[in-house]
Amino acid sequence: MPAARAILHVDMDAFFASIEQRDRPECRGKPVMVGAGPDRRGIIATCSYEARRYGVHSAMPSRTAGKLCPHGVFLPPDMRKYSDESRKIMAILRDYTPEVEPVSIDEAFLDATSAQALFGGAAEIARKIKARILRERGLTASIGVAPNKFLAKIASDFEKPDGLTVVSEEAKAAFLAPQPVGRLWGVGKVARGLLESHGYRTIGDLQNADPKRLEAIVGSRARHLHDLALGRDESPVETEREAKSIGSEHTFETDTEERPILHRTLLAQSEKVAREMREANVAARTITLKLRYADFTTITRRTTFDQPTQDEIRIFEALVRLLDSEKTGKRKIRLIGLVASGLGTPQLQLDLFDASGEKRRRLAHAVDDLRARLGPKAVLRVGD
Ligand SMILES: [Mg+2]
Repeated sequence: MPAARAILHVDMDAFFASIEQRDRPECRGKPVMVGAGPDRRGIIATCSYEARRYGVHSAMPSRTAGKLCPHGVFLPPDMRKYSDESRKIMAILRDYTPEVEPVSIDEAFLDATSAQALFGGAAEIARKIKARILRERGLTASIGVAPNKFLAKIASDFEKPDGLTVVSEEAKAAFLAPQPVGRLWGVGKVARGLLESHGYRTIGDLQNADPKRLEAIVGSRARHLHDLALGRDESPVETEREAKSIGSEHTFETDTEERPILHRTLLAQSEKVAREMREANVAARTITLKLRYADFTTITRRTTFDQPTQDEIRIFEALVRLLDSEKTGKRKIRLIGLVASGLGTPQLQLDLFDASGEKRRRLAHAVDDLRARLGPKAVLRVGD
């Protein structure tokens, strides 16, 4: 019998906000929101746990966050700093196994199956990783340890922040049983509603479902859902990624025209594409937005940067501008995606350019702050 797999899912706690709280002692213990300012169009990328108590969450429009938490600290994102931090954390993870799959800037899967003997077990690896990240980087991570990726991901979220949850092969069905069906991979709002309307509220309800009845409700996905409900998932930790074409597409389970959903999807896609570019050491000159409407009409809109970029915020902002200038109205969207092209080696000037981009963002933020306090005419920016 092959050795049981040992998969870790490492997820940094409130990543951007925790970095800022570490670096700005005056922000510790306070609601910190990283993203657009409260009086600007834009969203919150990450917020601290103190801010979450006010109902603020990531991908929330900044204006909403400003209303919920008016005395909170709003900070512009410093993607260069967060990317550097991410690289340092990924390097810590690679000290334990080369089998690391970064999922986003602050999240990774590790296949610790062969490394566990060396370090005294997978849970011990998780403890060591958490301790090192805290000691060396001053940040906390939550880690799930389980026989597969699906379970490890749910486990890392179980005791956040600063959590460590181990789910064994024997305990996995019992661990999943009380959790809502919406936690299963691929079960979005619509599928959840459908399942609930048939009495399947928890994953436990699905574990005991009659396969024929489940198939009548969700069709060919029944088998996969049932496997996941029982904690079965064979998907491998993917270390290598190809950089031939860098893009990301998502088909919604239900067609949607809701901007927050579209924005959230674009943000996740921007992060994924930017990370893949950094891993491949390339930067994109052109970003293309792809939309497919419910009637399958497909359009693409593109924008070209002065200098190649691999910055997710810049990519995301460009996509949102493209989406906003598209008169989608009430037309529902079936698929959204992006392609990064004109790929080239990031140039030396990129550093300078990024630094000045960062300065611009800080400046814009400072100006917005002044306007909020002194009125819209208080400060006029060049070009206003
Ligand atoms: Mg996280």
